[in-house]
Amino acid sequence: MSNPIPISVALGDGIGPEVTRATLQILAAADARIAPEEVELGERVYRRGISSGVDPAAWESIRRTRVLLKGPLTTPQGGGFKSVNVTLRKALGLFANVRPAVSYSPFVSTLHPKLDVIVVRENEEDLYAGIEHRQTDEVMQCLKLISRPGCERIVRYAFALARAHGRRKVTCMTKDNIMKMTDGLFSSVFREVARDYPDLATEHMIIDIGAARLADTPERFDVIVTLNLYGDILSDIAAQLTGSVGLAGSANIGSQAALFEAIHGSAPDIAGRGIANPSGMILSAVMMLSHIGQPDIATAIHNAWLCALEDGCHTADIHRQAAVGRPLRTDEFAAAIIDRLGQAPQALRKAVYHAESSGSVAAAAQYERPAPLHKALVGVDLFVHFRGGPGGLSPRVQRLANDRLKLSMITNRGVKVWPDGLPETFCTDHYRCRFQASTPTGDIQQNDIIELLQRMQHEGLDFIKAETLCTFDGVPGYALGQGQ
Ligand code: NAD
Repeated sequence: MSNPIPISVALGDGIGPEVTRATLQILAAADARIAPEEVELGERVYRRGISSGVDPAAWESIRRTRVLLKGPLTTPQGGGFKSVNVTLRKALGLFANVRPAVSYSPFVSTLHPKLDVIVVRENEEDLYAGIEHRQTDEVMQCLKLISRPGCERIVRYAFALARAHGRRKVTCMTKDNIMKMTDGLFSSVFREVARDYPDLATEHMIIDIGAARLADTPERFDVIVTLNLYGDILSDIAAQLTGSVGLAGSANIGSQAALFEAIHGSAPDIAGRGIANPSGMILSAVMMLSHIGQPDIATAIHNAWLCALEDGCHTADIHRQAAVGRPLRTDEFAAAIIDRLGQAPQALRKAVYHAESSGSVAAAAQYERPAPLHKALVGVDLFVHFRGGPGGLSPRVQRLANDRLKLSMITNRGVKVWPDGLPETFCTDHYRCRFQASTPTGDIQQNDIIELLQRMQHEGLDFIKAETLCTFDGVPGYALGQGQ
Protein backbone atom coordinates (compact mmCIF):
# COMPACT_ATOMS: atom_id res chain seq x y z
CA MET A 1 0.00 0.00 0.00
CA SER A 2 1.23 3.48 -0.90
CA ASN A 3 2.38 5.86 1.85
CA PRO A 4 -0.33 8.15 3.22
CA ILE A 5 -0.36 11.56 1.56
CA PRO A 6 0.18 14.47 3.94
CA ILE A 7 -2.62 17.05 3.76
CA SER A 8 -3.06 20.24 5.74
CA VAL A 9 -6.39 20.53 7.55
CA ALA A 10 -7.88 23.70 9.06
CA LEU A 11 -10.92 23.04 11.24
CA GLY A 12 -12.27 26.55 10.61
CA ASP A 13 -14.50 28.87 12.62
CA GLY A 14 -18.18 28.72 13.66
CA ILE A 15 -19.59 25.38 12.46
CA GLY A 16 -16.18 24.62 10.87
CA PRO A 17 -14.84 22.30 13.61
CA GLU A 18 -18.17 20.38 13.70
CA VAL A 19 -18.35 19.69 9.95
CA THR A 20 -14.60 19.18 9.51
CA ARG A 21 -14.29 16.67 12.37
CA ALA A 22 -17.29 14.75 11.00
CA THR A 23 -15.58 14.66 7.60
CA LEU A 24 -12.27 13.48 9.06
CA GLN A 25 -14.10 10.63 10.84
CA ILE A 26 -15.59 9.50 7.53
CA LEU A 27 -12.20 9.75 5.77
CA ALA A 28 -10.62 7.60 8.49
CA ALA A 29 -13.44 5.03 8.37
CA ALA A 30 -13.10 4.81 4.58
CA ASP A 31 -9.34 4.15 4.94
CA ALA A 32 -8.38 7.26 2.99
CA ARG A 33 -4.61 7.08 2.52
CA ILE A 34 -3.95 10.51 4.01
CA ALA A 35 -1.92 11.93 6.89
CA PRO A 36 -3.78 15.05 8.07
CA GLU A 37 -1.74 17.86 9.68
CA GLU A 38 -3.83 20.38 11.57
CA VAL A 39 -3.08 24.04 10.89
CA GLU A 40 -4.62 27.14 12.47
CA LEU A 41 -6.30 29.75 10.30
CA GLY A 42 -8.88 32.44 10.93
CA GLU A 43 -10.36 33.88 14.10
CA ARG A 44 -7.89 32.44 16.62
CA VAL A 45 -4.97 33.67 14.50
CA TYR A 46 -6.49 37.14 14.10
CA ARG A 47 -6.85 37.30 17.87
CA ARG A 48 -3.11 36.65 18.23
CA GLY A 49 -2.58 39.89 16.32
CA ILE A 50 -1.79 38.37 12.91
CA SER A 51 -4.05 40.48 10.67
CA SER A 52 -3.69 38.12 7.67
CA GLY A 53 -5.32 35.29 9.69
CA VAL A 54 -2.60 32.84 8.52
CA ASP A 55 0.36 32.13 10.80
CA PRO A 56 3.83 31.12 9.53
CA ALA A 57 3.46 27.48 10.65
CA ALA A 58 0.28 27.15 8.57
CA TRP A 59 2.03 28.56 5.52
CA GLU A 60 4.90 26.10 6.01
CA SER A 61 2.52 23.12 6.17
CA ILE A 62 0.34 24.19 3.25
CA ARG A 63 3.30 24.99 0.99
CA ARG A 64 4.81 21.58 1.79
CA THR A 65 1.68 19.42 1.45
CA ARG A 66 0.18 21.52 -1.39
CA VAL A 67 -3.27 20.30 -0.37
CA LEU A 68 -5.52 22.04 2.16
CA LEU A 69 -8.87 20.78 3.41
CA LYS A 70 -10.39 23.81 5.05
CA GLY A 71 -13.43 24.45 7.23
CA PRO A 72 -15.24 27.77 6.71
CA LEU A 73 -13.60 30.82 8.22
CA THR A 74 -15.20 33.93 9.68
CA THR A 75 -14.03 37.16 8.11
CA PRO A 76 -14.45 39.94 10.70
CA GLN A 77 -16.49 42.67 9.01
CA GLY A 78 -14.75 45.98 8.28
CA GLY A 79 -11.62 46.79 10.32
CA GLY A 80 -8.12 45.94 9.20
CA PHE A 81 -8.77 42.23 8.59
CA LYS A 82 -8.32 40.68 5.17
CA SER A 83 -10.30 37.57 4.26
CA VAL A 84 -8.09 34.49 4.83
CA ASN A 85 -10.02 32.75 2.07
CA VAL A 86 -9.11 35.38 -0.48
CA THR A 87 -5.50 35.56 0.79
CA LEU A 88 -5.03 31.78 0.45
CA ARG A 89 -6.59 31.63 -3.03
CA LYS A 90 -4.45 34.45 -4.32
CA ALA A 91 -1.18 33.72 -2.54
CA LEU A 92 -1.26 30.07 -3.64
CA GLY A 93 -2.28 30.92 -7.23
CA LEU A 94 -5.55 28.94 -7.00
CA PHE A 95 -7.00 30.42 -10.16
CA ALA A 96 -9.98 28.08 -10.65
CA ASN A 97 -12.86 27.66 -8.22
CA VAL A 98 -14.96 24.66 -9.19
CA ARG A 99 -18.41 24.43 -7.58
CA PRO A 100 -20.73 21.60 -8.62
CA ALA A 101 -24.40 21.76 -7.58
CA VAL A 102 -26.67 18.74 -8.03
CA SER A 103 -30.28 18.04 -7.03
CA TYR A 104 -31.00 14.84 -5.11
CA SER A 105 -34.73 14.69 -5.76
CA PRO A 106 -36.93 13.18 -4.42
CA PHE A 107 -34.70 12.54 -1.39
CA VAL A 108 -33.93 16.23 -0.84
CA SER A 109 -36.85 18.52 -1.66
CA THR A 110 -36.18 20.98 -4.42
CA LEU A 111 -38.24 22.82 -7.01
CA HIS A 112 -35.57 21.87 -9.57
CA PRO A 113 -35.11 18.09 -9.61
CA LYS A 114 -32.97 18.07 -12.77
CA LEU A 115 -30.39 20.65 -11.64
CA ASP A 116 -26.83 19.47 -12.35
CA VAL A 117 -24.49 22.38 -12.97
CA ILE A 118 -20.81 23.13 -12.40
CA VAL A 119 -19.97 26.78 -11.77
CA VAL A 120 -16.34 27.52 -12.68
CA ARG A 121 -15.47 30.80 -11.04
CA GLU A 122 -12.38 32.93 -11.65
CA ASN A 123 -10.71 33.07 -8.28
CA GLU A 124 -7.95 35.67 -8.11
CA GLU A 125 -9.08 38.91 -9.74
CA ASP A 126 -12.11 41.15 -10.19
CA LEU A 127 -13.32 43.30 -7.30
CA TYR A 128 -11.75 40.73 -4.96
CA ALA A 129 -8.32 42.25 -5.62
CA GLY A 130 -9.28 44.24 -2.51
CA ILE A 131 -7.71 47.48 -3.79
CA GLU A 132 -9.96 50.04 -2.17
CA HIS A 133 -9.50 53.71 -1.36
CA ARG A 134 -11.43 56.54 0.15
CA GLN A 135 -10.83 59.32 -2.33
CA THR A 136 -12.98 62.16 -1.02
CA ASP A 137 -15.38 62.84 1.84
CA GLU A 138 -18.14 61.26 -0.20
CA VAL A 139 -16.56 58.66 -2.48
CA MET A 140 -14.98 55.24 -2.01
CA GLN A 141 -13.32 53.31 -4.83
CA CYS A 142 -12.81 49.57 -5.41
CA LEU A 143 -10.67 48.65 -8.41
CA LYS A 144 -11.91 45.89 -10.69
CA LEU A 145 -8.81 44.35 -12.25
CA ILE A 146 -9.28 41.84 -15.05
CA SER A 147 -6.23 40.43 -16.84
CA ARG A 148 -5.84 38.49 -20.07
CA PRO A 149 -3.89 35.67 -18.35
CA GLY A 150 -6.60 35.54 -15.67
CA CYS A 151 -9.36 35.23 -18.29
CA GLU A 152 -7.48 32.75 -20.46
CA ARG A 153 -6.58 30.45 -17.59
CA ILE A 154 -10.10 30.18 -16.17
CA VAL A 155 -11.85 29.91 -19.53
CA ARG A 156 -9.42 27.24 -20.79
CA TYR A 157 -9.82 25.38 -17.50
CA ALA A 158 -13.63 25.47 -17.78
CA PHE A 159 -13.61 24.08 -21.31
CA ALA A 160 -11.10 21.35 -20.45
CA LEU A 161 -13.13 20.40 -17.36
CA ALA A 162 -16.37 20.31 -19.39
CA ARG A 163 -14.79 17.95 -21.92
CA ALA A 164 -13.17 15.74 -19.24
CA HIS A 165 -16.50 15.40 -17.39
CA GLY A 166 -18.49 14.59 -20.54
CA ARG A 167 -20.46 17.84 -20.32
CA ARG A 168 -22.13 19.26 -23.41
CA LYS A 169 -22.40 23.03 -23.00
CA VAL A 170 -20.38 25.89 -21.53
CA THR A 171 -22.19 29.15 -20.72
CA CYS A 172 -20.22 32.33 -20.12
CA MET A 173 -21.87 35.06 -17.98
CA THR A 174 -20.61 38.64 -17.87
CA LYS A 175 -21.89 42.20 -17.89
CA ASP A 176 -19.99 43.13 -21.05
CA ASN A 177 -22.76 45.44 -22.27
CA ILE A 178 -21.84 47.84 -19.44
CA MET A 179 -18.21 46.98 -18.59
CA LYS A 180 -17.04 46.73 -22.14
CA MET A 181 -13.34 46.60 -21.35
CA THR A 182 -13.12 44.36 -18.24
CA ASP A 183 -16.08 42.01 -18.73
CA GLY A 184 -15.63 42.54 -22.48
CA LEU A 185 -12.14 41.00 -22.25
CA PHE A 186 -13.57 37.95 -20.44
CA SER A 187 -16.31 37.35 -23.03
CA SER A 188 -13.96 37.88 -25.98
CA VAL A 189 -11.45 35.38 -24.53
CA PHE A 190 -14.40 32.99 -24.09
CA ARG A 191 -15.28 33.31 -27.79
CA GLU A 192 -11.60 32.79 -28.77
CA VAL A 193 -11.12 29.66 -26.64
CA ALA A 194 -14.50 28.23 -27.69
CA ARG A 195 -13.11 27.82 -31.22
CA ASP A 196 -10.76 25.11 -29.86
CA TYR A 197 -13.76 23.12 -28.54
CA PRO A 198 -16.12 22.60 -31.49
CA ASP A 199 -17.55 19.50 -29.73
CA LEU A 200 -19.05 21.68 -26.97
CA ALA A 201 -22.04 23.99 -27.34
CA THR A 202 -21.36 27.52 -26.12
CA GLU A 203 -23.41 30.56 -25.22
CA HIS A 204 -22.93 33.93 -23.59
CA MET A 205 -25.49 35.53 -21.28
CA ILE A 206 -25.60 38.87 -19.55
CA ILE A 207 -25.21 38.02 -15.88
CA ASP A 208 -28.50 39.51 -14.69
CA ILE A 209 -30.72 37.52 -17.02
CA GLY A 210 -28.36 34.53 -16.68
CA ALA A 211 -28.83 34.53 -12.88
CA ALA A 212 -32.60 34.87 -13.33
CA ARG A 213 -32.65 31.90 -15.72
CA LEU A 214 -30.46 29.87 -13.35
CA ALA A 215 -32.98 30.50 -10.56
CA ASP A 216 -35.91 29.65 -12.85
CA THR A 217 -34.75 26.85 -15.17
CA PRO A 218 -31.39 25.63 -13.89
CA GLU A 219 -31.65 22.41 -15.90
CA ARG A 220 -30.82 24.40 -19.06
CA PHE A 221 -27.27 24.95 -17.74
CA ASP A 222 -24.37 22.53 -17.74
CA VAL A 223 -21.03 24.28 -17.06
CA ILE A 224 -21.01 28.02 -16.29
CA VAL A 225 -17.78 30.02 -16.44
CA THR A 226 -17.74 33.52 -15.01
CA LEU A 227 -15.86 36.22 -13.16
CA ASN A 228 -15.09 36.07 -9.46
CA LEU A 229 -17.97 38.08 -7.93
CA TYR A 230 -20.67 36.76 -10.27
CA GLY A 231 -19.41 33.19 -9.69
CA ASP A 232 -19.59 33.66 -5.93
CA ILE A 233 -23.24 34.68 -6.16
CA LEU A 234 -24.27 32.16 -8.85
CA SER A 235 -22.77 29.19 -7.02
CA ASP A 236 -24.67 30.05 -3.82
CA ILE A 237 -27.89 30.35 -5.83
CA ALA A 238 -27.25 27.00 -7.51
CA ALA A 239 -26.45 25.29 -4.19
CA GLN A 240 -29.51 26.75 -2.46
CA LEU A 241 -31.74 25.59 -5.34
CA THR A 242 -30.67 22.01 -4.67
CA GLY A 243 -32.09 22.32 -1.15
CA SER A 244 -29.39 23.95 1.02
CA VAL A 245 -26.11 25.85 0.77
CA GLY A 246 -24.88 23.16 3.15
CA LEU A 247 -24.90 20.58 0.34
CA ALA A 248 -22.19 21.90 -1.99
CA GLY A 249 -18.44 21.37 -1.94
CA SER A 250 -15.78 23.12 -3.95
CA ALA A 251 -12.24 22.80 -5.23
CA ASN A 252 -9.84 25.72 -5.59
CA ILE A 253 -7.27 24.58 -8.09
CA GLY A 254 -3.88 26.02 -9.04
CA SER A 255 -0.84 24.68 -10.80
CA GLN A 256 1.10 24.39 -7.49
CA ALA A 257 -1.55 23.69 -4.85
CA ALA A 258 -5.23 22.99 -4.25
CA LEU A 259 -7.69 23.90 -1.51
CA PHE A 260 -10.97 22.10 -0.82
CA GLU A 261 -13.80 23.68 1.15
CA ALA A 262 -17.58 23.75 1.45
CA ILE A 263 -19.12 26.74 -0.29
CA HIS A 264 -21.02 27.86 2.80
CA GLY A 265 -19.61 30.10 5.50
CA SER A 266 -19.07 29.59 9.23
CA ALA A 267 -22.84 29.92 9.98
CA PRO A 268 -22.46 31.66 13.37
CA ASP A 269 -26.26 31.43 13.85
CA ILE A 270 -26.07 27.64 14.36
CA ALA A 271 -22.43 27.21 15.50
CA GLY A 272 -21.82 24.95 18.49
CA ARG A 273 -25.27 23.32 18.35
CA GLY A 274 -24.14 20.17 16.53
CA ILE A 275 -26.83 20.48 13.85
CA ALA A 276 -24.83 21.73 10.82
CA ASN A 277 -24.95 19.76 7.61
CA PRO A 278 -21.44 18.40 6.94
CA SER A 279 -22.29 17.44 3.32
CA GLY A 280 -20.51 20.40 1.69
CA MET A 281 -17.34 19.54 3.58
CA ILE A 282 -17.70 15.82 2.82
CA LEU A 283 -18.14 16.44 -0.91
CA SER A 284 -15.13 18.80 -0.84
CA ALA A 285 -13.10 15.99 0.72
CA VAL A 286 -14.36 13.67 -2.05
CA MET A 287 -13.06 16.17 -4.63
CA MET A 288 -9.76 16.25 -2.74
CA LEU A 289 -9.46 12.44 -2.82
CA SER A 290 -10.01 12.43 -6.55
CA HIS A 291 -7.39 15.18 -6.90
CA ILE A 292 -4.74 13.30 -4.89
CA GLY A 293 -5.26 10.09 -6.82
CA GLN A 294 -7.62 8.12 -4.53
CA PRO A 295 -10.69 7.82 -6.77
CA ASP A 296 -11.64 4.50 -5.13
CA ILE A 297 -12.09 6.13 -1.71
CA ALA A 298 -13.80 9.17 -3.28
CA THR A 299 -16.30 6.85 -5.00
CA ALA A 300 -16.97 4.87 -1.81
CA ILE A 301 -17.64 7.95 0.35
CA HIS A 302 -19.78 9.71 -2.25
CA ASN A 303 -21.94 6.60 -2.77
CA ALA A 304 -22.32 6.02 0.98
CA TRP A 305 -23.44 9.65 1.30
CA LEU A 306 -26.01 9.18 -1.51
CA CYS A 307 -27.29 6.03 0.22
CA ALA A 308 -27.72 7.97 3.47
CA LEU A 309 -29.83 10.59 1.64
CA GLU A 310 -31.92 7.85 0.00
CA ASP A 311 -32.54 6.31 3.42
CA GLY A 312 -33.96 9.62 4.69
CA CYS A 313 -30.94 10.59 6.81
CA HIS A 314 -31.24 14.38 6.85
CA THR A 315 -29.73 17.19 8.86
CA ALA A 316 -32.11 19.97 9.94
CA ASP A 317 -31.45 22.25 6.94
CA ILE A 318 -32.84 19.69 4.46
CA HIS A 319 -35.30 17.93 6.74
CA ARG A 320 -38.91 18.30 5.67
CA GLN A 321 -41.94 17.39 7.73
CA ALA A 322 -42.83 14.73 5.18
CA ALA A 323 -39.48 13.04 5.76
CA VAL A 324 -39.27 10.03 8.04
CA GLY A 325 -38.12 10.52 11.62
CA ARG A 326 -36.30 13.43 13.20
CA PRO A 327 -33.45 15.42 11.70
CA LEU A 328 -30.02 13.97 12.45
CA ARG A 329 -27.30 15.81 14.27
CA THR A 330 -23.96 16.38 12.51
CA ASP A 331 -22.23 13.43 14.16
CA GLU A 332 -25.24 11.12 13.65
CA PHE A 333 -25.29 11.99 9.95
CA ALA A 334 -21.55 11.19 9.72
CA ALA A 335 -22.19 7.85 11.46
CA ALA A 336 -24.99 7.09 8.97
CA ILE A 337 -22.51 7.56 6.10
CA ILE A 338 -19.88 5.41 7.79
CA ASP A 339 -22.50 2.65 8.24
CA ARG A 340 -23.17 2.70 4.48
CA LEU A 341 -19.56 2.59 3.22
CA GLY A 342 -19.41 -0.09 0.53
CA GLN A 343 -23.04 0.39 -0.52
CA ALA A 344 -24.31 1.96 -3.76
CA PRO A 345 -27.41 4.13 -4.17
CA GLN A 346 -30.52 2.51 -5.68
CA ALA A 347 -32.26 5.50 -7.28
CA LEU A 348 -29.78 8.36 -7.35
CA ARG A 349 -27.03 8.27 -9.98
CA LYS A 350 -24.07 6.29 -8.69
CA ALA A 351 -20.85 8.29 -8.33
CA VAL A 352 -17.79 7.02 -10.16
CA TYR A 353 -14.45 8.82 -9.88
CA HIS A 354 -11.42 8.30 -12.05
CA ALA A 355 -7.95 9.54 -11.23
CA GLU A 356 -8.17 13.26 -11.88
CA SER A 357 -6.21 14.27 -14.92
CA SER A 358 -4.02 17.21 -14.09
CA GLY A 359 -3.77 17.88 -17.83
CA SER A 360 -6.47 20.55 -17.85
CA VAL A 361 -4.74 22.50 -15.07
CA ALA A 362 -1.37 22.23 -16.74
CA ALA A 363 -2.78 23.35 -20.08
CA ALA A 364 -4.77 26.23 -18.56
CA ALA A 365 -1.93 27.37 -16.33
CA GLN A 366 0.41 27.89 -19.27
CA TYR A 367 -0.05 31.39 -20.49
CA GLU A 368 2.24 32.62 -23.22
CA ARG A 369 2.67 36.36 -23.12
CA PRO A 370 2.41 37.68 -26.68
CA ALA A 371 4.74 40.33 -28.14
CA PRO A 372 4.13 43.77 -26.62
CA LEU A 373 1.70 46.09 -28.40
CA HIS A 374 2.63 49.59 -29.51
CA LYS A 375 1.55 51.80 -26.63
CA ALA A 376 1.09 55.55 -27.14
CA LEU A 377 0.28 58.07 -24.40
CA VAL A 378 -2.54 60.29 -25.68
CA GLY A 379 -4.00 61.91 -22.56
CA VAL A 380 -4.81 61.69 -18.88
CA ASP A 381 -7.83 61.54 -16.58
CA LEU A 382 -7.19 63.66 -13.51
CA PHE A 383 -9.50 62.92 -10.58
CA VAL A 384 -10.23 65.89 -8.36
CA HIS A 385 -11.81 66.35 -4.92
CA PHE A 386 -14.03 69.45 -5.33
CA ARG A 387 -17.02 70.40 -3.20
CA GLY A 388 -18.76 72.83 -5.62
CA GLY A 389 -20.75 72.26 -8.78
CA PRO A 390 -19.31 71.75 -12.28
CA GLY A 391 -19.88 75.45 -13.08
CA GLY A 392 -17.35 76.36 -10.38
CA LEU A 393 -14.82 73.73 -11.40
CA SER A 394 -14.80 73.90 -15.20
CA PRO A 395 -13.32 77.44 -15.67
CA ARG A 396 -10.51 76.61 -13.25
CA VAL A 397 -9.72 73.33 -15.01
CA GLN A 398 -9.92 74.87 -18.48
CA ARG A 399 -7.18 77.30 -17.44
CA LEU A 400 -4.82 74.31 -17.06
CA ALA A 401 -4.96 73.33 -20.75
CA ASN A 402 -2.09 74.31 -23.06
CA ASP A 403 -0.99 73.68 -26.65
CA ARG A 404 -0.18 70.04 -25.83
CA LEU A 405 -3.13 68.98 -23.66
CA LYS A 406 -6.70 70.19 -24.07
CA LEU A 407 -9.61 69.58 -21.68
CA SER A 408 -12.11 67.32 -23.46
CA MET A 409 -14.65 66.64 -20.70
CA ILE A 410 -15.43 66.63 -17.00
CA THR A 411 -17.50 63.81 -15.52
CA ASN A 412 -18.99 63.10 -12.11
CA ARG A 413 -19.33 59.40 -11.25
CA GLY A 414 -18.78 58.72 -14.95
CA VAL A 415 -21.49 61.07 -16.27
CA LYS A 416 -20.44 64.03 -18.44
CA VAL A 417 -21.15 67.31 -16.65
CA TRP A 418 -18.98 69.56 -18.88
CA PRO A 419 -19.35 70.58 -21.68
CA ASP A 420 -23.13 70.56 -22.04
CA GLY A 421 -24.00 68.78 -18.78
CA LEU A 422 -27.59 68.50 -17.61
CA PRO A 423 -28.67 70.50 -14.54
CA GLU A 424 -30.54 67.40 -13.27
CA THR A 425 -27.31 65.38 -12.84
CA PHE A 426 -26.49 64.89 -9.16
CA CYS A 427 -22.86 65.71 -8.42
CA THR A 428 -20.71 64.36 -5.59
CA ASP A 429 -17.39 65.90 -4.53
CA HIS A 430 -15.48 63.62 -6.97
CA TYR A 431 -14.79 64.80 -10.53
CA ARG A 432 -12.79 63.39 -13.42
CA CYS A 433 -11.18 65.87 -15.80
CA ARG A 434 -10.12 64.34 -19.09
CA PHE A 435 -7.21 65.96 -20.94
CA GLN A 436 -6.35 64.74 -24.41
CA ALA A 437 -3.38 65.43 -26.63
CA SER A 438 -3.77 68.49 -28.79
CA THR A 439 -0.47 67.84 -30.60
CA PRO A 440 -0.58 67.12 -34.37
CA THR A 441 0.87 63.62 -33.81
CA GLY A 442 -1.75 62.89 -31.13
CA ASP A 443 0.69 61.71 -28.51
CA ILE A 444 2.35 63.32 -25.52
CA GLN A 445 5.13 62.60 -23.02
CA GLN A 446 4.80 61.69 -19.35
CA ASN A 447 6.42 65.04 -18.57
CA ASP A 448 3.39 66.82 -20.07
CA ILE A 449 1.28 65.14 -17.37
CA ILE A 450 3.71 66.01 -14.59
CA GLU A 451 3.61 69.67 -15.71
CA LEU A 452 -0.20 69.53 -15.87
CA LEU A 453 -0.29 68.24 -12.30
CA GLN A 454 1.96 71.10 -11.22
CA ARG A 455 -0.38 73.62 -12.87
CA MET A 456 -3.28 71.94 -11.06
CA GLN A 457 -1.43 72.29 -7.76
CA HIS A 458 -0.79 76.01 -8.43
CA GLU A 459 -4.51 76.42 -9.21
CA GLY A 460 -5.20 75.07 -5.73
CA LEU A 461 -7.16 72.04 -6.94
CA ASP A 462 -6.98 68.88 -4.83
CA PHE A 463 -6.13 66.05 -7.22
CA ILE A 464 -6.70 62.46 -6.09
CA LYS A 465 -5.10 60.48 -8.87
CA ALA A 466 -3.95 60.55 -12.47
CA GLU A 467 -4.94 57.73 -14.83
CA THR A 468 -3.08 57.80 -18.13
CA LEU A 469 -4.97 57.39 -21.41
CA CYS A 470 -3.14 55.21 -23.92
CA THR A 471 -3.76 53.55 -27.23
CA PHE A 472 -2.54 49.99 -27.85
CA ASP A 473 -1.69 49.35 -31.50
CA GLY A 474 -3.85 52.38 -32.22
CA VAL A 475 -6.90 51.10 -30.27
CA PRO A 476 -8.03 53.37 -27.40
CA GLY A 477 -7.45 51.73 -24.01
CA TYR A 478 -10.08 53.78 -22.20
CA ALA A 479 -13.86 54.07 -22.15
CA LEU A 480 -15.84 57.13 -23.20
CA GLY A 481 -17.65 59.16 -20.55
CA GLN A 482 -21.39 58.43 -20.17
CA GLY A 483 -23.04 60.93 -22.52
CA GLN A 484 -19.74 61.77 -24.31
P1 NAD B 1 -23.18 31.22 5.82
O1 NAD B 1 -23.01 30.35 4.63
O2 NAD B 1 -22.26 30.98 6.96
O3 NAD B 1 -24.70 31.08 6.37
C1 NAD B 1 -25.83 31.40 5.58
C2 NAD B 1 -27.05 30.61 6.09
O4 NAD B 1 -26.91 29.24 5.71
C3 NAD B 1 -27.20 30.62 7.61
O5 NAD B 1 -28.56 30.64 7.93
C4 NAD B 1 -26.59 29.30 8.03
O6 NAD B 1 -27.12 28.79 9.23
C5 NAD B 1 -26.93 28.40 6.84
N1 NAD B 1 -25.89 27.38 6.65
C6 NAD B 1 -24.66 27.57 6.14
N2 NAD B 1 -23.98 26.43 6.12
C7 NAD B 1 -24.78 25.50 6.64
C8 NAD B 1 -24.63 24.10 6.93
N3 NAD B 1 -23.49 23.44 6.65
N4 NAD B 1 -25.66 23.45 7.49
C9 NAD B 1 -26.82 24.08 7.78
N5 NAD B 1 -27.03 25.40 7.53
C10 NAD B 1 -26.01 26.10 6.99
O7 NAD B 1 -23.06 32.74 5.32
P2 NAD B 1 -22.92 34.10 6.14
O8 NAD B 1 -23.79 34.05 7.35
O9 NAD B 1 -23.11 35.16 5.16
O10 NAD B 1 -21.40 34.16 6.60
C11 NAD B 1 -20.94 33.83 7.90
C12 NAD B 1 -19.41 33.98 7.93
O11 NAD B 1 -18.82 33.03 7.05
C13 NAD B 1 -18.89 35.36 7.50
O12 NAD B 1 -17.83 35.72 8.36
C14 NAD B 1 -18.35 35.12 6.12
O13 NAD B 1 -17.29 35.99 5.80
C15 NAD B 1 -17.85 33.68 6.24
N6 NAD B 1 -17.77 32.94 4.95
C16 NAD B 1 -16.71 32.11 4.81
C17 NAD B 1 -16.62 31.35 3.66
C18 NAD B 1 -15.43 30.42 3.54
O14 NAD B 1 -14.75 30.17 4.52
N7 NAD B 1 -15.15 29.91 2.36
C19 NAD B 1 -17.60 31.41 2.67
C20 NAD B 1 -18.71 32.25 2.87
C21 NAD B 1 -18.79 33.03 4.03
